[in-house]
Amino acid sequence: MLPLAKIIATIGPACQQQAEIKSLILKGVNVFRFNLKHNSLDWHAAEVELVRGIAKQLKKPVGILLDLEGGELRIGKFKTKNFKKGETVLFARNEKKSNCQIIPFPKIKSLLCLSVGQKILIDDGRHEFKISKIDKAKKEIYAKVIIGGTIKERKAVNIPNSGFKSSINVQDDLPALELCAQLKIDFLAISFIKEKNDVLVYKKFFAKKEFKPWIISKIETREAIADFDDILKESDGIMIARGDLGVELPFEEVPFLQKMLITKSLAKGKPIITATHMLESMIENPKATRAEISDVANALYDLSDCLMLSGETAYGKYPGLSVATMRKVANFMEKQKPEKLDIDYEIKTQTEAICYSAHTLYKSEFCQKRNIKAFVVLSRKGKTSRVLSRLRPYLPIFTITDNESLVKKLTILFGVYPFYLNLGGIYKQKGVKEIKGILNFLKKNTFLKTGDKVIFVWGEDWGTPGKTSVMRIQEIV
Ligand code: PGA
Ligand code: MN
Repeated sequence: MLPLAKIIATIGPACQQQAEIKSLILKGVNVFRFNLKHNSLDWHAAEVELVRGIAKQLKKPVGILLDLEGGELRIGKFKTKNFKKGETVLFARNEKKSNCQIIPFPKIKSLLCLSVGQKILIDDGRHEFKISKIDKAKKEIYAKVIIGGTIKERKAVNIPNSGFKSSINVQDDLPALELCAQLKIDFLAISFIKEKNDVLVYKKFFAKKEFKPWIISKIETREAIADFDDILKESDGIMIARGDLGVELPFEEVPFLQKMLITKSLAKGKPIITATHMLESMIENPKATRAEISDVANALYDLSDCLMLSGETAYGKYPGLSVATMRKVANFMEKQKPEKLDIDYEIKTQTEAICYSAHTLYKSEFCQKRNIKAFVVLSRKGKTSRVLSRLRPYLPIFTITDNESLVKKLTILFGVYPFYLNLGGIYKQKGVKEIKGILNFLKKNTFLKTGDKVIFVWGEDWGTPGKTSVMRIQEIV
């Protein structure tokens, strides 16, 4: 059986060469994530071209995800310093003369609304500070070291329950956004989305552009959880960024939230990525722990579309084995066909109604006895594939589109195999001849052969999202 779950691998020094990228694609990576926290934009641009070239050679659709700093907070540049418990430090925009050790903090302005007593965490919560004084005029914050140690520059900062809304300054992201538009990057993941408006800021940038990436909101704060329903409405997809989520919130809440966010995303038909620490120990070891294997399996029981690898592929010792391990677990899970009964699927449009019916048809005794091999979808915007995929038929959903930029976007959807096909008016007029053309294409490009049965779904009102109108049991002739 064809693999259905999707895997995202983060590019980094451990997998940036041609041979390594090729091997990861062959082992089952569907999307590469480029983390803009590291390296220059030029480096990323060259690497994106490299991945695309290899994917083309292999004739496999591979998506590109650009991970943007967005509302993430970081300390600035400085020489590594050591901090002792109890000492007072100064957070200021730049290094300056002071009686205290200084931690440069470029976005200091966004901290001035905090209160005395608030905690500031640095480097994944390893170091803890407590605010003792705020000087708004000088834009300085004094804090006491609670947990000290050695701190390196540019480490991430978390401020749990800060209460402040967005710390996004889209101006900072402009060069990356221009690159995204120029290279037609498929997915733009935005860190520390806190409210609906954060998503709208990025959508506004692309409103004037011809190319629009799918915007993936990374959920990593209490504020984002509180505004999740509205964020979901505006986003094209969601990433559960468990690394920061488990620092911003008590870690015991993360598994519960993972299930809740996935359920809500499925209800609306938006793809969802479960990310971070999935096979963390494989950064150093060739074998995952049983707990990590369970985590991967459980993310699929929860019905994630995509599983993400970060350090495992970016700088780990075993990038290939990490992907192969994840794929092996996913392949087994797909045979178990986990289902969730508590999802209230939104069925407001004709497309949603037809897809729901097509899935029910597939589940009927009639179809189950006839060994249906796949769904075949014709789609312009990907909506039909999205709302069919969320029902998890555990069959490949071969999606044929004449929209070139959609092909790579569909790489993120569970079970969806996208193909580009342009046969002129074929999508509008589907007489016997046109259908035959599509079936021939499928025979050439998939495992389907004469006599196989599929469920075929499309809209006669071609190109109008939400207007899917046909489903039929189709024999491949
Ligand atoms: P990051 O996001 O790796 O960019 O921090 C993922 C996470 O926080 O889990
Ligand atoms: Mn994060």
